[in-house]
Order: sequence, then C-alpha cells, then structure tokens
Amino acid sequence: MKIFCVGRNYAEHAKELGNDIPEEPVLFMKPKSALLPPNTPFYYPDFTNELHYEAEIVLRVSKNGRHIDPEHAGEYYDAFTIGIDFTARDLQTELKKKGLPWEKAKAWDHSAILGSWVTLTPAISESPIHFSLEKNGEKVQIGNSDAMLFPFNSIVSHISKYFSLNIGDLIYTGTPSGVGECVSGDILEGFYEKNKMFSLEVK
Ligand code: ZN
Repeated sequence: MKIFCVGRNYAEHAKELGNDIPEEPVLFMKPKSALLPPNTPFYYPDFTNELHYEAEIVLRVSKNGRHIDPEHAGEYYDAFTIGIDFTARDLQTELKKKGLPWEKAKAWDHSAILGSWVTLTPAISESPIHFSLEKNGEKVQIGNSDAMLFPFNSIVSHISKYFSLNIGDLIYTGTPSGVGECVSGDILEGFYEKNKMFSLEVK
C-alpha cells in the first residue's frame, strides 16, 4: 500500500507558505507506517517544536492502473474521507532551505490521519466536496474540492505516469489555507459538510 500526497494544491495555501503556484502537481509520499492505526493515541513528536495540521480530502484507490487518462481517472477511486497530513513545519523549512527531501518532516510514524470513509456516489461526485477542520471547537480550515489547482482526476492521471496505482493506495489531495500549529491537549476534528469524520487529541 502506498500513500501519495499532493503539495500546494490550493492557491491560497501555496501563498501562505510563500510558495509559487505549481505548474503540475507537487507529489510526495508517506510509507504505510505513517498511518495512525485506529484507536491509537497520537503523540506530539519529540523532533519538532512546530507541529502543523493540514486537513485534506483523501481518496481511496479502488482499481489497479498506470498511464491513466484524466477522462477515465474517475474509475480508479471509489471513496473519500477527510484526513490530516501532519507536518513538522520547522524541519520542513530547514529541509526546503537546503534543497533536501521532505520525508523527515512529512513521512514519520503516525503523521497520516484518516477519518471514516464515504462512498463516492455519482451524486456526491457531481458537486464540490466541502470540508473543514476545527481546533478546540473553532474552525481553522475550510476547503472545497472546486478550489483545487489540480482536481482529483488530473492528480490520479499525473501520479499514474510515474507510479502504478494499486487497490488500497491512498491519495492526500492537498490542504487549503489556514494551516497552523497545534500543541499537546488540542482536539482536532475533521468535517465533511456537517458530518464529523474524525476527532483526534494531540497527546
Ligand atoms: Zn499536505
């Protein structure tokens, strides 16, 4: 199982971190060990002093493929949820400055959070997916799949030029603006419209 992640997929978020608007999807990966298993506490990692939440729509791959056309890409995922791509922002800033890979900032154990899955019906696929993240009951991120620079099908097609997609792979599709720090004791809750998809305490 592979976990793909898209960076800078919302213009407002690219700007808030001082990044250019990308011309093609920015891709990185997390290993399977990055997933926080169900009913497992999430601990603030000891190698960062600037832990950031990034709420994202996550797609679940339902069909094996490679070199997928954007027109057919919709056949390759069947469910979505809201998740968090946790980022050690201080480490990432250091690594970016030195032109080094991001793994230590992004791909560490339990950095990938998943909510409960929603099956993608034609009705859901037709309209934009609205999602949000609350920190301690206050809305800190609001996103909408229509605001993505690269929509789902173009992401899937782009990934499949380089990597086989396999059933069960996950795709974190990027975070909207509003990323920020969290500290021990914070409660993070992800929503798809009014449905709570996960609730996570930072230990
Ligand atoms: Zn992200």
